[in-house]
Amino acid sequence: MSVPVDFDPVLAASPPDIDDGELLEVVAATFGLRAAAARDLGSERDRTFLLVDDRDASLAVAKVSNAAEDPATLDMEALAVLHVATVDPGLPLAMPLAIPGTSGVEAADRRATLVRADGTHYLRLYDVLPGRSRTDPLDLSDAALGAFGETAARLGRSLRGFVHPAAIRTMLWDVQHASRTRSLVGSIRDLGQRALVERVLDRYDEVVTPAWPSLRAQVVHGDLTTDNVLLDDVGRITGIVDLGDMSHSALLIDLASVLDSLLNERGPDELFRAARLVLDGYQRVTPLETLELRLLGEVLAARAAVTITISSWRTERGLEDQAFAERYNDSVARTIETLLAVGWDEVARRFGAEVPVADRAGLIARRERALGPALEPLTYDEPIHMASASGVWMTDADGRRYLDAYNNVPCVGHGHPRVAEAIARQTRRLNTNLRYLHEGAVVLAERLVATLPDGLDTVFFVNSGSEANDLAWRLATTFTGHRGGLCTDYAYHGISESIAALSPESWRRGEGPGWVETWPVPDAVRGLHQVPAPFEAALGRLSAAGLKPAAVILDSVFTSDGFATASSDLVAAWVDRTHAAGGLWIADEVQGGHGRTGEAMWSFQRLGISPDVVTLGKPMGNGYPVGAVITRGEIARAFADETVFFSTFGGNPVAAAASNAVLDVIADECVLERVMVAGEGLRAAIRDIAAGQSGIVDVRGAGLAIGVEFADAATATAVKEGLRERGVLVGTTGRAGNVLKVRPPLAFTTAEIPVFADALGATLESIARG
Ligand code: PMP
Repeated sequence: MSVPVDFDPVLAASPPDIDDGELLEVVAATFGLRAAAARDLGSERDRTFLLVDDRDASLAVAKVSNAAEDPATLDMEALAVLHVATVDPGLPLAMPLAIPGTSGVEAADRRATLVRADGTHYLRLYDVLPGRSRTDPLDLSDAALGAFGETAARLGRSLRGFVHPAAIRTMLWDVQHASRTRSLVGSIRDLGQRALVERVLDRYDEVVTPAWPSLRAQVVHGDLTTDNVLLDDVGRITGIVDLGDMSHSALLIDLASVLDSLLNERGPDELFRAARLVLDGYQRVTPLETLELRLLGEVLAARAAVTITISSWRTERGLEDQAFAERYNDSVARTIETLLAVGWDEVARRFGAEVPVADRAGLIARRERALGPALEPLTYDEPIHMASASGVWMTDADGRRYLDAYNNVPCVGHGHPRVAEAIARQTRRLNTNLRYLHEGAVVLAERLVATLPDGLDTVFFVNSGSEANDLAWRLATTFTGHRGGLCTDYAYHGISESIAALSPESWRRGEGPGWVETWPVPDAVRGLHQVPAPFEAALGRLSAAGLKPAAVILDSVFTSDGFATASSDLVAAWVDRTHAAGGLWIADEVQGGHGRTGEAMWSFQRLGISPDVVTLGKPMGNGYPVGAVITRGEIARAFADETVFFSTFGGNPVAAAASNAVLDVIADECVLERVMVAGEGLRAAIRDIAAGQSGIVDVRGAGLAIGVEFADAATATAVKEGLRERGVLVGTTGRAGNVLKVRPPLAFTTAEIPVFADALGATLESIARG
């Protein structure tokens, strides 16, 4: 039987046959340590002994390397331990002792050379670390499983700055070389096991090999198993004792070795539960990347397959005890069987990876059952199952990309790295509430106030637009003592009891409570409602019902009212009439705020009015739920006289981190200017299309809040569906449902205009053809 030459030969060489007497002599001659006896601790390819004195007290651990071992590898191990000791001194790594009389600076100072008839060996001596060895993984508590994962991550982290030429090696245990073990599978005598191993290697070649170059790689320990650690009474790692498998490989293989060691002999449920606890511990220190989490199952299975293959091959060569190897391989094979039975996607999901559900129809039915009939239905005749998004592009579960011209919440773009990182970092560090002093919300409040007209100086933090408006309403009723409210006649402001009352768009029966009056928005196309009279009439109806206005609430871009166009004179007249009647003006900036109009940070500013209360939501956290109410001090004081305000999540450090990051990005990316240019350009492109025989009645809006009016709802809906077929997302709005809602993330630029225009042109042509 020839020794394969394409991998590190240590696995094929016998352990040195040194006996106790010879060892004790060599230890005394080289390290000057006189031990009474040496006890064999068992090892795969070298020999490891516990040295004791004449009262059986432990003195040191001696390791004699295999004749095929490259001394450079041993030096790498010693240097790695020294490196880890400087980075994370709390990690209990066994340190090879310096030979007396040497400085210990050179790695070679920590090994003695032993030339024997069978070749050259190296002797290393280690301090005895506390703890028990070879713990049964099934005895580990949940806390110990987590701690194991955490220690693995700390070791990986502490090695990431370490480099050594000997780390570039083809150590077969390293899962990156799993495919090479194919040449050895003939040694697996159990044909069932051999088939399992081949299935795992096939899967490995299919999905892991192509992804391998993208995985984070560094020098890793490579074999963090219960055999290579010592544990205290509660299962915490007190010693890491064997770095013999170190190599430059994917960081993930340390975790695979941990799981391979800890999960055997566990039934399916317990296997995944234990794995998740280990992963939690690991990710406490080092969060896994998406790809790593996705491939962990396959890498773990490959590690298990490699275990079976190498030990079968070594058994065949007489290097391992057959009965022991077979018993161990049986349990490893059962773990592979469990993974295969569960299926790779489901394995990834159970480890915590995001894997889209394949059964879309089933998911729709489950959504309906679980979320009930009141929830707004899924959009589009054929609903989209979204999987990811970046900037202005969204990708569905089939990998189809859509230009997002609809979603305003991810205002600086889907998944903006600054915001996403701010959220992730803050949520790891601290998330708490405003009862503790923290700078996040204070800084955010100061920054928001600085963007607003003088006098709007007090900020309340809440968690949604609805909550912001609800609180604004409470401020208004408390401050004015009035009970009446006004909103536009197809407005939407939120879901709480009082705000749903001020949201005619959501009135199923077309009627709200008696304390709400509505007025129609101006219609420039038909020349309707462009004077203050309809507003005055609404105030009059309120008064006739014996009510005075507490507040009027307005979305200054009229999102639900079909993006109506109102002159600043008209809106100023509404505000004046409101104040004259003793009511407050609430500027709902949930839609129009955070630069949507491009002209100003807040949409009311372009109308030149001074609101009493401003409410923020949706875009504020780029998708992280956060809202705010900003008002004058006197209004806040009147409220404070009546009540104490506290919202558990309102203004929490994570929400504040997200919101501060959004403000930073808006400034750094000059978002307002970008919105002006992109908005102008997009409207111009749509108007060009409208100039043909397109069925477009009107194109209007400000910045990237754009309405495209059609003759009727059926046409607008057909255009929305047609755009979806062509990979562009929009909505519809307005009482008649005949206005296309074009309201993209503010990451939309002039580069996307042709994509939008081409899709719109093609859609309209196709509709015109019938
Ligand atoms: N105000 C306006 C103008 C809105 O458009 C919305 C939501 N569409 C809200 C308030 C309510 O916000 P949320 O859904 O976050 O409660």
